[in-house]
This record gives sequence, C-alpha cells and structure tokens, in this order.
Amino acid sequence: MQLTESQRSIRDQFRRFMEHKLAAQTAAMETGELLPFPLMKEMTDELGLALEAERLSNFSSLSGQRSHSRDPETAVLLRYAQTQLAVEMCRVNPGFALSYGASLGLFGGNVRSRGTPEQVARWVPPVLRCEKVASWCLTEPGAGSDALGAMKTTAHLDGDSYVLNGEKTFITNGPYADYFLVYAKDDAGAVQAFFAERGMPGLATSKPFAKMGMRSSPTGSVFLDNVRVPRENLLGGGIDDRAHVRKSLASERIGLAVMSYGIAERCFEIAVDYAKSRVQGGKPIASYQLIQQRLARMYVALSNARRIIYDDSEQSVLDACAGKLYVAEVGTFVAMEAIHVLGGNGYMEEYVVERLARDAKLVEIGGGTTEIQILTIARHLLAEHA
Ligand SMILES: Cc1cc2nc3c(=O)[nH]c(=O)nc-3n(C[C@H](O)[C@H](O)[C@H](O)COP(=O)(O)OP(=O)(O)OC[C@H]3O[C@@H](n4cnc5c(N)ncnc54)[C@H](O)[C@@H]3O)c2cc1C
Repeated sequence: MQLTESQRSIRDQFRRFMEHKLAAQTAAMETGELLPFPLMKEMTDELGLALEAERLSNFSSLSGQRSHSRDPETAVLLRYAQTQLAVEMCRVNPGFALSYGASLGLFGGNVRSRGTPEQVARWVPPVLRCEKVASWCLTEPGAGSDALGAMKTTAHLDGDSYVLNGEKTFITNGPYADYFLVYAKDDAGAVQAFFAERGMPGLATSKPFAKMGMRSSPTGSVFLDNVRVPRENLLGGGIDDRAHVRKSLASERIGLAVMSYGIAERCFEIAVDYAKSRVQGGKPIASYQLIQQRLARMYVALSNARRIIYDDSEQSVLDACAGKLYVAEVGTFVAMEAIHVLGGNGYMEEYVVERLARDAKLVEIGGGTTEIQILTIARHLLAEHA
C-alpha cells in the first residue's frame, strides 16, 4: 500500500512505541505479572492519543459540545491513524489491543454514540485518557451467540433507581475494570444499557480466567447482586437497545478484523524472513517451490485482507460481517502457516508465531462466531434481494 508522508510518519511513530515499549512488557503481560493498563496510559500520553480520539469522535471533553469543523483530509488521516494503531499493537501484542479496544471502543464508543451529552462528558474522557479502565458486559453464561434473546440479567425500576441482577461472563477487562456498561432486560423485557462502577454495593468480579490466547488481556465474570444504579445511569433514554447493540457489534467486527490483519502481517513477515535465512539441503528453504507456494498463498490472503481493513467507505452490517468473517480466518490461516514454515522453531515460544496463532483464534469467536457472521450475512443479503 502506497502511504502518504503523513501516514508513514504516523505508522513509524506507532511502530517505534510498540516495538520498544510494548514488546518489552509483553512476556510479563502474558503471565499476568504486569497488567496492560499502565502501558495503555503511557501510550496514550506519549502518542497524544486522547486528543486524537476526541478529535476523531468529534467530541470536546471540555465543553461536551460536538464540533463539526473536521476537514475531509484530516478525517481520512485520523481514520488511517485509528486503523494503524490497532494494526501496530496487534503486530506485537494482540491481547493488549483487545483490552484497549474493549475500554475505548466497546465502552467508549457505545457511551458516545448512545449517551446524553452529560453522560458522554462524565464517563468518556477518563476512558479516552486511559485514567479509567472500562468494560462492555453483554455475554452471559447462558447467552452467547443468542446474547439478546437469552439474556437473563434484569433491571427493575424501583423509585429513582434501577436494581440490576445477573451474571456476565467472558468480559474483557472485567476483573480490573472501573466502569461497566451492563446490558439488562427492564420490566417490559426491553434490552437496556446501564452504567455501573466498581465499588457499587453488590457488584463483584472474578479473577482473570486462564485461557488459550490473548493472555495479556484479563477476561472474567461480572456478578450483579441487587446493584442499585441511579436512573440517570440508563443510556439511550429507555428505548429498547437491541438495534443499537447490533450496530455496535458491526463496528466491533470491523475492529476485530483489523486485529487479525495485524497478526497476519507480522506472521507473514516472520515467515518470509525465516524462509530466506533457513538453510536445508544446502539451500535457503525459500528456494523450494513447496515453501514458495505456502508463502504465495499467505500473501494472497493478506493482500485481500488489507483491502478490506483499509477500505475507507461507510460499511454496512453485511460488509462488516463479511469482512470480519474473512479477515478472522486469514489471521488464523496465516499464523498457522507461519508456524509451519518455521518448522520446529515455529512451535517454540521464542519465535512469537505460536503466540500470535493462539491469539488469532479468538477473532473467529469473539464479537460473533463464524457461524453468526454467516447467518447474519445470509439474513441481510436475502432481505436485500427479497
Ligand atoms: C477472550 C474473550 C473475550 C471476550 N470479551 C467479551 C466482552 O468484552 N464482552 C462481552 O460481552 N463478551 C465477550 N466475549 C464473549 C464472546 O462474544 C462470546 O464468546 C461469543 O459471542 C460466542 O458466545 P459463546 O461463547 O457463548 O458460544 P456459543 O454461543 O455457545 O456458541 C458455541 C458454538 O455454537 C455455534 N452456534 C451458536 N448458535 C448457533 C446457530 N444459531 N447456528 C449455528 N451455530 C451456532 C457457535 O458458532 C459456536 O461455534 C469474549 C469472549 C472471549 C473468548
């Protein structure tokens, strides 16, 4: 991809930070010895991300007003910066990116698009600045792919408060989050989103779960036992939130596709470098056509994925699902192929691709599994052609 001078400078700045600071802390984050949050704050300060995020979202934290003074060229550059930040994080540590995305994207993005100006002004700026860690709580033990239909968490209106009861699971940042955006069914059975905060009586979280990949990102349960939240903590003015949840899942899917692309890009580079330098039978393995075929197929997938994630046009739900489905599979495919090209070394932690392959698998599950993307694509395209 041909980059402009400004794009190249943004990419290089992000890459330097990730290759130095994030890479240095990754081993300790993977074991849980270090949490990702202090470095998220350092990254935000050092790269000036809070300011960029506020510009990107048209949101002024000081006034609570939305500004409309963005020129198209700046808007394109800011969108590139947002995509590239995720790519650069995922080239080094996708778990770190997952935690960052859950806090700023899932929590921040939903409050921003759904909240009143007062709610946005209160809860979003501390999250954009990474002073507070946030989480997005939809999934439940019995409600995953059917998150809205099977939801059991309730919100009962009692005087001037809602009383929340239920259990959320697989919540990114859940074990340490300060803020929780909790989805629950109100007395009329409508799905609503509520803001809750650590320290509220009745709100508890589990320890981080042990998991296959994305180990730098703490995942856990959130328990709600008669948690009383003031009425003004209800987002969206009491209108059923299902349509909004579906829309926000579409943007989550675009974000997840970007993560898979970052993983695939790094794995591809590692595989090419290795193939050129590893000698077997007196020649670099890259000179063997069977290895070349693997590298060429990896490149085809990567190059198609690149066109999807840098596509700057407005994405429909159908396209977001199609993109997520395709690029998630590219992430796993390219990472597994990279392991193969590296042979025994690919299987060793030292060569990174095994960690990236474990991380890549999450993208085929989170934000709606492969099957759910296929079902949604089919539903939308048949409706379009009905
Ligand atoms: C590391 C991690 C982080 C996460 N972070 C968050 C978070 O921050 N917030 C949050 O709310 N959730 C989060 N999740 C939850 C995630 O979104 C769910 O795991 C996902 O939606 C799948 O739900 P499930 O695990 O209950 O699987 P299930 O829904 O039980 O699915 C199991 C299998 O059945 C298939 N299946 C289900 N329904 C159908 C159907 N109708 N047709 C065909 N096949 C079907 C699925 O595709 C899958 O293969 C996270 C999950 C993980 C692993």
